[in-house]
Amino acid sequence: MINAFSIDVEDWFQVSAFAPHIERSRWDALPCRVERNVDLLLGLLQESGCAATFFTLGWIAERYPAMVRRIVAAGHELASHGYAHLRASEQEREEFRADLVRAKAILEGISGAPVLGYRAPSFSIGPRNAWAHDLIAETGHVYSSSVYPVAHDHYGTPDAPRFAHRLDTGLVEIPPSTVRWGGRNWPIGGGGYFRLLPYRVSAWGIRRVNAVDARPAMVYFHPWEFDPGQPRVRDAGAKARFRHYLNLGRTEARIRRLLREFSWDRVDRAFAGEIASGAGAPGPASSQEDIAHADSRGVAA
Ligand SMILES: [Zn+2]
Repeated sequence: MINAFSIDVEDWFQVSAFAPHIERSRWDALPCRVERNVDLLLGLLQESGCAATFFTLGWIAERYPAMVRRIVAAGHELASHGYAHLRASEQEREEFRADLVRAKAILEGISGAPVLGYRAPSFSIGPRNAWAHDLIAETGHVYSSSVYPVAHDHYGTPDAPRFAHRLDTGLVEIPPSTVRWGGRNWPIGGGGYFRLLPYRVSAWGIRRVNAVDARPAMVYFHPWEFDPGQPRVRDAGAKARFRHYLNLGRTEARIRRLLREFSWDRVDRAFAGEIASGAGAPGPASSQEDIAHADSRGVAA
């Protein structure tokens, strides 16, 4: 089974949990670490012979166009993480549309390659702003990875479908991976969970998605997760600091192992079948919506 490896390309000061403590107007004055960290990741991927998808902020691409070209030249997929790292749930429609259009134009202009994928900052699309999916499709994206089917204090739609599926607009939503256990969905897709849990738990989760659900896994990481030397945001709350700074020094070795022990590829290739057909073969249903989707195709879930 080939799984999808993805990276959200943003810097340490753009993380949503720190937003109340770092004014956006200060971004340009803060020391950027993203180039160093993306180059480290490119090295790890090259070592393992794996390709990945880089969901990149337009703001970052404007400042580091050579880095964006290195990502594409190494055979990776360039996708969009929006322009300004504003949560979709905190924007009006036209503001959100403008952010999507601006990021896509910048990324395509620099890379010369079409940008098919989008990931909303902080997985900020749920039932209350489902209109956002329409705008992602209308602005020329083919797939999105913006809904996390878990319960979390900052994001998540616990009863959303766990697997790639086509929405009414034709857009294919590919959620980060979860495991279904004890009647609820547990996040195993990456980020803070990957750093918090022992490696073997994440590996078990990916194996379970592959073997029990018969689906490719979708994982995500951030360049700052590989950077124990990043500046500390001291006035952020204890919970935000715990989540952000936990086990940063261990990520590199863990990712090396993850890249070695599983097969990985870009999202557009790992989910090529789902993107082409709109959804994969129906697997075990995890929610009412999954069941409804399966039923509408006349297939027992
Ligand atoms: Zn982000």
